[in-house]
Amino acid sequence: MKCKKCKRSFDPNHGNQKFCSQLCSDTFYDDYREDWKKNHPQIEQDYTKGGSRAYNNIQQRCENPNHPSYSNYGGRGIQLRLSKEEFLAIYFGSDTCGLCGQTVNDENRNAKDGRTLDRIDQAKSYEPDNLRILCRSCNASLAYKRRKNRL
Ligand SMILES: [Zn+2]
Ligand SMILES: [Zn+2]
Repeated sequence: MKCKKCKRSFDPNHGNQKFCSQLCSDTFYDDYREDWKKNHPQIEQDYTKGGSRAYNNIQQRCENPNHPSYSNYGGRGIQLRLSKEEFLAIYFGSDTCGLCGQTVNDENRNAKDGRTLDRIDQAKSYEPDNLRILCRSCNASLAYKRRKNRL
């Protein structure tokens, strides 16, 4: 496995590991965020706003028993195990869908190619190695497949 930041080879602890160290991961995402802001001037303000909204929604689903979706999240033991900073680094850590590879849309996240977050293993929590970016259309067809497999 080659580190995405320093390009050095390393032995990953798990299949999804992209960086040889926390430092490489941190600096990569710092640089990425700066580039991202430069390349998306018109929605720079939304950078934190949109991500914060997503984070707050997850927090509600996982931690507020009165939230309508709590039974599918917090009620099933799904927890939010990352800080807002860590979350934003992952949420904006990729501009392409982890399944089909198309560039995700930040201007309209409700569009078919809109940016969405996926929990890779549905039994696991919102934690760094279990999250990836998908386009809305891939996320929806995956949700359909998962439902079908459970029935
Ligand atoms: Zn590295
Ligand atoms: Zn996709």
